Amino acid sequence: MSKTEFTYLNLPSLFYEKVQPSRLPKPEIALLNQALLNVLGIPNNNLPKLLSFLQLADPNPEAQTFAQAYAGHQFGHFTMLGDGRAIIIGEWVQAENLRYDIQLKGGGRTKYSRGGDGKATYRAMLREYLISESMFHLNIATSRSLAVIKTGEWVQREMVVEGAVLPRIMKSHIRIGTFEFARHFGTLNDLTALCNYSINRLYPQLKTKENSAAALLETVMVSQINLICEWMRVGFIHGVMNTDNVAISGETFDYGPCAFINSYNPNTVYSSIDRDGRYAFKNQANICKWNITRFAEALLPLLHTEEEKAILIAKEIIGTFDQIWVNQYYKTMLLKLGITEVNISLCDWVNELLKIMEEEQMDYTNTFLALGNPDFASETHHCSERFSTWRNNWEKYIENSIGLSKAQAIMQVNNPAFIPRNHEVEKALDEMSMGNAKPFENLLQVLQNPYTYNPTFHSYTNPPQSEFDKKFKTFCGT
Ligand code: AMP
Ligand code: MG
Repeated sequence: MSKTEFTYLNLPSLFYEKVQPSRLPKPEIALLNQALLNVLGIPNNNLPKLLSFLQLADPNPEAQTFAQAYAGHQFGHFTMLGDGRAIIIGEWVQAENLRYDIQLKGGGRTKYSRGGDGKATYRAMLREYLISESMFHLNIATSRSLAVIKTGEWVQREMVVEGAVLPRIMKSHIRIGTFEFARHFGTLNDLTALCNYSINRLYPQLKTKENSAAALLETVMVSQINLICEWMRVGFIHGVMNTDNVAISGETFDYGPCAFINSYNPNTVYSSIDRDGRYAFKNQANICKWNITRFAEALLPLLHTEEEKAILIAKEIIGTFDQIWVNQYYKTMLLKLGITEVNISLCDWVNELLKIMEEEQMDYTNTFLALGNPDFASETHHCSERFSTWRNNWEKYIENSIGLSKAQAIMQVNNPAFIPRNHEVEKALDEMSMGNAKPFENLLQVLQNPYTYNPTFHSYTNPPQSEFDKKFKTFCGT
């Protein structure tokens, strides 16, 4: 039987502020994730019931809603942050060991809002809804969006725009930045409480480990490596991998300036604020390691009572990062080529193909799709001599090993046909903002079945014009 709990509030009070979401002047449902709400058993058959569940109806003196405190390294610089425009309305316990935070993004001001207004814009919330749902259907661990609710308020950004609230679920919003907050602003007891809470909630199997903080560090490191390899698999660029946006649950979240790569260029950056390419596609592995190192620093006093020994433990764990990354990355990329073993000479298939794709400006998604899917390949193909030679050699290898049909079956579950192409996302958002929901609904529908190439939807596989994509910029979730 599902119910709402608030176990996070058992942490010392510096970890949160109890705060109620702002009332909405004129709420209106723009999007409803009916299927997900039904799975969760959340009442959604009428607006008043849903608003009341989300604590957006009349003020509720009993409400235990709260904003989380956290810090983080933003573009390399440490700073105090916290939920400045997000409020958790509770933990939805669906079954034993299945607990989700329900958070309202754009829920109103909190004591962590600094100069911000605590609000979110309609367009940015539509974008988060679309991309997070796409990630879910790509089988990548992610927060999920329950709805987009227009607030009926206008929000001041560069221009005055419509406001919205996005209720979303996640196994937990605890981030590396929460640990950095505890380390810098709390006591050893606070840090211990956070560590124990996180283990109990997310990784209970670590409770009995001799050094559970070290086990947590290692587990979070591996789950981040696995997650980011999945991003690389589908060409996803998160865009703002600050430590406050790294969930220790291993879920992707905070869909701000993210976007998917088109023509393959490992240096691709879409985020308007990432001027030095810190979070470029190819840097995601290095940044992952950098972020995990910040996590280790925050955990240091729990790794060992003597600092020197604690540093050694941290170094030993992080010292395994590169090898785990290389194994997981090539395992992931080789599956995109229908190859299930991993060894150094096989990795060259990947490296060589990526080099050709980069130099010949080939589309990342469509190149892999065409290799594994004859239906798609017949509609589009790239045939430079260099690529044809690579392809012939690879085909020979496949025929002499696993066989083409088995390889294709593997490739078809690892290579999406449909990703949210930047131009399609922009079109859907533009139209939706003008009151035409059709392009958004159609795109969402296509993205719900990303691994099955369906010729009816062929146009959704078209990359954007190269001029469009080179100039395309994304913005933080404002
Ligand atoms: P994000 O870019 O969404 O990861 O947010 C970074 C930090 O800025 C977090 O502490 C947010 O809570 C805060 N923030 C972002 N937008 C707003 C806003 N409109 N009002 C208050 N705080 C905000
Ligand atoms: Mg964030």
